[in-house]
Amino acid sequence: QSLRHEAEAGAVVEEGGGILGFPLTRQVLQVCQANSLWPMTFGLACCAIEMMATGMARMDMARYGAEVFRPSARQCDLLIVSGTVTKKMAPALMTLYEQMPAPKWVIAMGNCAISGGPFKVEENYSVIEGVDTLIPVDIYIPGCPPRPEALIEGILKLQEKIAGKRHPWPQRRFKKETRIHPID
Ligand code: SF4
Repeated sequence: QSLRHEAEAGAVVEEGGGILGFPLTRQVLQVCQANSLWPMTFGLACCAIEMMATGMARMDMARYGAEVFRPSARQCDLLIVSGTVTKKMAPALMTLYEQMPAPKWVIAMGNCAISGGPFKVEENYSVIEGVDTLIPVDIYIPGCPPRPEALIEGILKLQEKIAGKRHPWPQRRFKKETRIHPID
């Protein structure tokens, strides 16, 4: 955790000559962070069902190091806003985001989280029209709901954003998986 904070502060960390011959630099830490995301268990509406499906055996997001859903915001570095954000829920969502230790990232999953989705109507009294009006968002995944493949693509995009490049192995495996098991 302390190394994470140093990396976030922009420090170049060198410890004991490095790991496996590589210097333990900020870049290495970013690769580690990208491949060990801990999402929050925070489902808001129907999109959350697809988020749960992404964690199940068929899609198996564990392949990308992002399966450790935690019930406490203080143990998470990824918030997947999966569903409708109501005005009543907004203060709780912002509190949870603030409780997450940095560095942290946010995925807006589904049209509701992006813009209010089907609830974006004139004089809406209950729904927030875009979670990015409350907290910063790193990745947007459109759809109503987005399929699990889309969420996985979003996670890979986020990994690319954190580490500067996409891990080649999971990408190949993902393509193979979708070819062998087409979803009706
Ligand atoms: Fe439900 Fe569609 Fe909104 Fe997702 S985007 S929470 S599926 S209404």
